Amino acid sequence: MQSKDSDSENISNEVSIIGGSIAGLLAGREIATEGFDVAIYEEHREIGVPEKCDGLVSASGIDRLGLVPPSSIVQNTLSRAIFFSPSMKEISINAARQNVIVIDRSRFDKFLAERAAKAGAKIRVGRRVSQYAQKDPQVLMKFDGQTVRSKILLDCGGYESYISAGGRTLQGGQYLVFGNWFEKNTVEVYIDPIEYPGFFKWVIPISNDMAKIGVAGEGINIFQTLDKFAEDKGAQILRKMAAPVLCFGSLKSFVSGRVARAGDAAGQTKPTTGGGIYTGGYGGVLAGRGAARALKENDLNYLTSYEDDWKKEFGREFNLQNRARAAFSKLTRDQVDRLFEMVASSEIPEKISEEGDFDRHSIAIVKAFGLANIVSTFGMFFTNELKQLVSR
Ligand SMILES: Cc1cc2nc3c(=O)[nH]c(=O)nc-3n(C[C@H](O)[C@H](O)[C@H](O)COP(=O)(O)OP(=O)(O)OC[C@H]3O[C@@H](n4cnc5c(N)ncnc54)[C@H](O)[C@@H]3O)c2cc1C
Repeated sequence: MQSKDSDSENISNEVSIIGGSIAGLLAGREIATEGFDVAIYEEHREIGVPEKCDGLVSASGIDRLGLVPPSSIVQNTLSRAIFFSPSMKEISINAARQNVIVIDRSRFDKFLAERAAKAGAKIRVGRRVSQYAQKDPQVLMKFDGQTVRSKILLDCGGYESYISAGGRTLQGGQYLVFGNWFEKNTVEVYIDPIEYPGFFKWVIPISNDMAKIGVAGEGINIFQTLDKFAEDKGAQILRKMAAPVLCFGSLKSFVSGRVARAGDAAGQTKPTTGGGIYTGGYGGVLAGRGAARALKENDLNYLTSYEDDWKKEFGREFNLQNRARAAFSKLTRDQVDRLFEMVASSEIPEKISEEGDFDRHSIAIVKAFGLANIVSTFGMFFTNELKQLVSR
């Protein structure tokens, strides 16, 4: 388990990881915990900066990543969600049972880096990997004219890596604002197929007067949309950022020989919301365990089986969410309004509130909505797989 990692030409690690964010740092923690030599390469000079995320996540998801973040990282706890239709019809969901928190992503990533480093992982910031190639029995990776040799490489390089593998994204963005129209415990979601085609606009409060507002959609100008929203609400903008949102499902395959992708790089974000902290973080954990087992047993099949493990956990749910998102994005403004009227006057919001699973919400929605209603509203949505899910 020897390695050399200085600024000289020959660097070797048992495992190299591209990307010092959720997936890469969790994978690094798992590999180092098993006693293997692992280095994580992050292009930015500071872990967690720039911040490109709202930090909305279920407490149970964080727990499943094996993490107990300090209270200084948790910015807020949310207990309600209000959805607005194009003509401002409302659906309110009591989300208290879903135990949803808002974390400071920048601090959270530093916390993960500390965990990974404590386990023995080497973290190298300010190192942008320019390319990698498999040359059995190793993978060669380059940065700043240097070559790194590894037995296994984990690509946790986020959306850039996903796009380079053929993944599709939507333009998205987020502002930090100071304002007073929202309630501290309530997430707001605005749905409008013309203003935000294929996605939505959101408000995530972090205190009584600070919130993260965001939007994503096909072909929209996110800065114009968010500038106008902030102006309409009389809010002051404290920070602006733009980044692609991934909501079209995971890649077909995550592993090829000695290289595996995890997190956004594999498209492990929920198709309905683009959220990837838990599902992509779990991808990092499983990829890290797969890599460590492959080294221990000298058998790359253990790396390959990480993909099956992740799909067993999330495959069906992602499939359903993907279909739901695709079906929903075909609705017109009037149809969305009618759907809101129908849902708001039914027991559906109450049933969804009772279900209490933030990470598997499509199953809750399908169950609450009922098959008969789905068939009449979204004919194209009716599949055998859906029947199986509903009857589970
Ligand atoms: C506007 C917005 C809001 C979001 N809000 C939420 C939310 O509320 N909840 C939620 O669960 N998810 C949210 N997400 C999604 C979430 O941010 C991602 O799913 C999550 O960050 C994925 O983590 P990751 O480690 O896979 O990738 P990333 O966080 O993208 O990290 C990839 C890392 O790799 C580095 N890197 C890339 N290429 C190289 C290279 N060649 N060499 C070295 N380093 C490289 C990058 O600098 C980066 O640090 C949001 C996304 C966006 C865009």
